Amino acid sequence: MVRRFQSEDQPMTCIHCQGRMEKGTAPFHVDRNGYHLLLDTIPAWVCQQCGEVYFEEAEVDSIQSLIRTMDIQLERVPISV
Ligand SMILES: [Zn+2]
Repeated sequence: MVRRFQSEDQPMTCIHCQGRMEKGTAPFHVDRNGYHLLLDTIPAWVCQQCGEVYFEEAEVDSIQSLIRTMDIQLERVPISV
């Protein structure tokens, strides 16, 4: 569900169109069993040509740990999933 992008010091090019990637932000949407999480402005690389978005490891890790925390906290909430 999460596209990972290995970031190194080389110039970023889009794997789809070879367009130029620029640092920006993008919304990140997670569908989980019982809830949906929409983060509006996650730092990301955005292709200036086709709009493809890549998230870096650090952001992906943060989001995954956020999801883990949500899952743990939600186990204490009496909702039916
Ligand atoms: Zn592209």
